[in-house]
Amino acid sequence: MDWSAERAAGLTRLQAYLPRAGRDYARLRNHDLGPQHHEHVSQLSPWVRHRLIREEEIIAGVLEHHSAEGAEKFIQEVCWRTYWKGWLELRPWVWQAYRREVALGLAEVDDDTRLSERLNRACQGRTGIDCFDHWIAELRDTGYLHNHARMWFASIWTFTLKLPWALGADHFLRHLLDGDAASNTLSWRWVAGLQTRGKAYLARPDNIARYTEGRFRPGSSELADAAFEVRDMAEMGDPRPLQAATEVASGKRTGLLFTEDELTPELWLGDVAISTALAIDCSADRGPGTVAPLVRDFTRQAIADACRRTTAHWDVDCEQLDAAVAGREVEDWVRRNQLEQVVIPWTPIGPGGDVVEVLAGMLESHGVHVVTPRNRWDELAWPHATHGFFRFRKHIPTLLDALAGR
Ligand SMILES: Cc1cc2nc3c(=O)[nH]c(=O)nc-3n(C[C@H](O)[C@H](O)[C@H](O)COP(=O)(O)OP(=O)(O)OC[C@H]3O[C@@H](n4cnc5c(N)ncnc54)[C@H](O)[C@@H]3O)c2cc1C
Repeated sequence: MDWSAERAAGLTRLQAYLPRAGRDYARLRNHDLGPQHHEHVSQLSPWVRHRLIREEEIIAGVLEHHSAEGAEKFIQEVCWRTYWKGWLELRPWVWQAYRREVALGLAEVDDDTRLSERLNRACQGRTGIDCFDHWIAELRDTGYLHNHARMWFASIWTFTLKLPWALGADHFLRHLLDGDAASNTLSWRWVAGLQTRGKAYLARPDNIARYTEGRFRPGSSELADAAFEVRDMAEMGDPRPLQAATEVASGKRTGLLFTEDELTPELWLGDVAISTALAIDCSADRGPGTVAPLVRDFTRQAIADACRRTTAHWDVDCEQLDAAVAGREVEDWVRRNQLEQVVIPWTPIGPGGDVVEVLAGMLESHGVHVVTPRNRWDELAWPHATHGFFRFRKHIPTLLDALAGR
């Protein structure tokens, strides 16, 4: 599998996959045949997560090969990502509660040697549960896991190994190339029975044997046969209204600032006149522990690719910075370039959003006008992520119409 962190590689992968995005996907997508054999799914997630390719481009491509009905399942799965992003955007406190849950879990591990030993065995793939130990190695070696493996893994972590769910989510976030604040946190919450209250996901030996096509056959007593209630520090609460995006003012000397959350700004902000650009790498902030080198490298290269396209499109410099040193450097960038306005494509809730919130506050306190426009897809879709996916799904035809300009 070629994980080149470039838009061109993502587009090539998309084109190669499109013929299989119809009925084949609906029939076979749950089968996890192991590394090198994930041909039943697209493996596009690392590119989509960084918006090296965009949800609307994937769907438009799919509709060139299939009818909306024929590719219904694949389109729905792409929209799951949009839904989770919107859901978290409307409830940012769930992300903050997750961060607190990780900190508390780590403190508990510090105080409990048996828990600490169990956690180490899990993270090093020494649990003795074959499939789990395989997945931890696959994740470490490739930065990717099949969706079904992610579900089984999270369930075994939580209910069989009885480890804090948030530490599992943190391990995923720091090791998945596609590690995403919304899809990851909310999927782990769903497995743990927190997202749909009382409905946890239990990994069953026969289900694993069937969908790994016999690669793994856990014994009948090897996995937990019941879920239990798991602590939740998040108030679900009512969703807040979607925060208003702000529009670019013309006639001001303008810089573009973006993170790895939005790596194709030229596709939807291409008409804005900018005189310089700056890209901030927030991947080290995915969690308190070390972020896997595979993830750090992918992010760095993805940002470099976006910088090359930015330079080509606007004929401007594009600098690349690590979030850890960004504060001072961003001030300096604004001063050197005599910027009056900084355009920051809307940065979703998550590590990037946290970094941007601080930087935007700092820039405004220096009298710089900060604007945060949002692309059309998110603007149309996110307000519908108020309840469950079932309700959100009803809006997909309207989204497809908007995409087709109808
Ligand atoms: C515990 C757990 C943690 C997860 N963590 C992440 C994560 O950090 N980042 C992430 O992008 N996805 C996450 N997912 C969702 C899903 O597993 C991955 O998006 C999918 O496996 C990516 O592989 P693919 O590109 O081959 O997917 P395909 O099946 O080919 O789907 C195409 C695209 O649709 C989107 N998609 C598909 N399924 C889902 C889903 N269930 N939820 C959200 N988007 C989906 C992805 O962008 C994906 O690239 C998680 C799921 C679970 C159960």
